[in-house]
Amino acid sequence: MEFDLIELIRRRTAQPRDDVRLGIGDDAAVLAMPAGQELAVAIDTLVEGVHFPCGTAAADIGWKALAVNLSDLAAMGASPAWALLALTLPAADAAFVEGFADGFAQLAQPHRLALVGGDTTRGPLCISVAVHGFVPPAKALTRAGARVGDAVLVTGTLGDAAAGLHALQHPWRDDDPRSNLREFLIERLNRPVPRLAAGAALRGQASACADISDGLLADLGHICTASGVGAEIEAVLLPRSSALLDLHDDATALHFALSGGDDYELCFTVPAQRLADVQADLSRLGCGVTRIGRIVDGSGVRVRGSDGDWLNMDRSGWEHFA
Ligand code: ADP
Ligand code: MG
Repeated sequence: MEFDLIELIRRRTAQPRDDVRLGIGDDAAVLAMPAGQELAVAIDTLVEGVHFPCGTAAADIGWKALAVNLSDLAAMGASPAWALLALTLPAADAAFVEGFADGFAQLAQPHRLALVGGDTTRGPLCISVAVHGFVPPAKALTRAGARVGDAVLVTGTLGDAAAGLHALQHPWRDDDPRSNLREFLIERLNRPVPRLAAGAALRGQASACADISDGLLADLGHICTASGVGAEIEAVLLPRSSALLDLHDDATALHFALSGGDDYELCFTVPAQRLADVQADLSRLGCGVTRIGRIVDGSGVRVRGSDGDWLNMDRSGWEHFA
């Protein structure tokens, strides 16, 4: 359906790759796997009003729909190659599709990712992207390898996307001297940068890895569950941007950093003897990296507050679905 829209998407996302034998236009794409690599695949769906606010710019939606998927590949230590796009649109809106395709292409092109097919249907705005990436045999990072004594680290800063959503929901005046801080946080929400180089550098180094889509507590919790361990983290060590800290009090900034979703940073664990090397490797890539705690016996994630006491994790707000 909507041949013109598909042609528009094809042209705007064009990315020649030798391993794409047949891309957009036939009944299925035909792709050649590189010898001696494993395939990592992931799919994520964004629904308007659920995963991004109504009124988000088309280019931001296009970027983010791909970014959240590339972040999953980053968390596996995989290098992206191909994508499929299922687009459900309320109307055949060429301007929207142009903006969407441009935002998608802006992120796809530096990674040489080819959009090789998809589906276009009519309905409430909803975008599914499936990505395919390569990883050397048995080298994929998983959530399951964390061991007692490993350090827990994160890339970048935490809580910015949640603060960006808060900023969108609390409009400010253009002449507010802190507008630029809000713009920075909204950019972090709308244009997350998947940590692909960091993920690739962590292959063979990290014992476990996950990307932070649902918030640090939830996603580190997934590592703990999969690995059969617990984690203790220190609130004072959590990396937070100056924009977040300037616009919010300590308790709110901590809440966003622990429970806010959509940051798409990596959370990973590293055996103590490799810690210094890993930190140096990521710093060399220009990727901020911070040790925030350690893996312990037991289960679940505990957070030590700045006063030295454990935070009460039952309190509403710390739980993702509370
Ligand atoms: P079919 O009915 O055979 O599934 P479609 O009309 O749905 O064909 O799609 C035609 C071609 O366009 C296919 O190669 C399909 O993969 C591609 N395509 C359709 N929608 C999209 C999209 N949103 N993004 C990328 N490729 C698409
Ligand atoms: Mg189809």
